Amino acid sequence: MVDTKQTSVYNAGVPELKLLYTRHDIEVRIKQLASRISDDYNGRSPLVIGVLKGAVIFLADLVREIELPLEIDFIGMSSYGSDTTTCGQAVVTSNPTAALDGRDIIIVEDIVDTGICLKALREYLASRHPASVRVCALLDKPSRRRVPVAVDYAGFEIPDKFVVGYGLDCAQRYRNLPAIYTLEDNDVREY
Ligand code: 5GP
Ligand code: MG
Ligand code: MG
Repeated sequence: MVDTKQTSVYNAGVPELKLLYTRHDIEVRIKQLASRISDDYNGRSPLVIGVLKGAVIFLADLVREIELPLEIDFIGMSSYGSDTTTCGQAVVTSNPTAALDGRDIIIVEDIVDTGICLKALREYLASRHPASVRVCALLDKPSRRRVPVAVDYAGFEIPDKFVVGYGLDCAQRYRNLPAIYTLEDNDVREY
């Protein structure tokens, strides 16, 4: 179901957006992920850490479907590169407030692309001695991987396209789109 009205509102004078996953597609998939997480962590209280800013919308919807006494925290990560790609290095820019030692941590990411951010994040977390670390990413682009990282709970595997909406940005815009779109403008990225 293509919501043309929704696209046109945000599309005036900017690159073409093509609907990839509707709000409904996302809702259905989130319920499945949340049910698996609820089963896997039965009896435990995981610490769900969202990676700012892209994972905020996904995390907000995901945690409301998880039936566990979980806690929420956030971490800031910054990668050197253009607005649309990472170019080899990622650093932590703001720390979670919770103590991490001994916790069952679920990292919530918007998308895993080259894997560079996630690898840096895993190394950072490992140095804080959690009991376990798993990753839940709404989107996974395995064809772009440059470092091997595992995604334990992946929403959708997508092809090598730049996507926006539902938390994902291009130059800080489009995060508030309720669905996920591909950005059909080859000039703005290095693909
Ligand atoms: P990675 O380190 O795996 O290459 O990607 C880290 C970050 O790059 C993601 O968390 C996301 O912020 C950004 N990124 C990668 N691919 C896309 C994409 O298709 N769209 C958007 N908006 N951001 C992306
Ligand atoms: Mg991210
Ligand atoms: Mg971004």
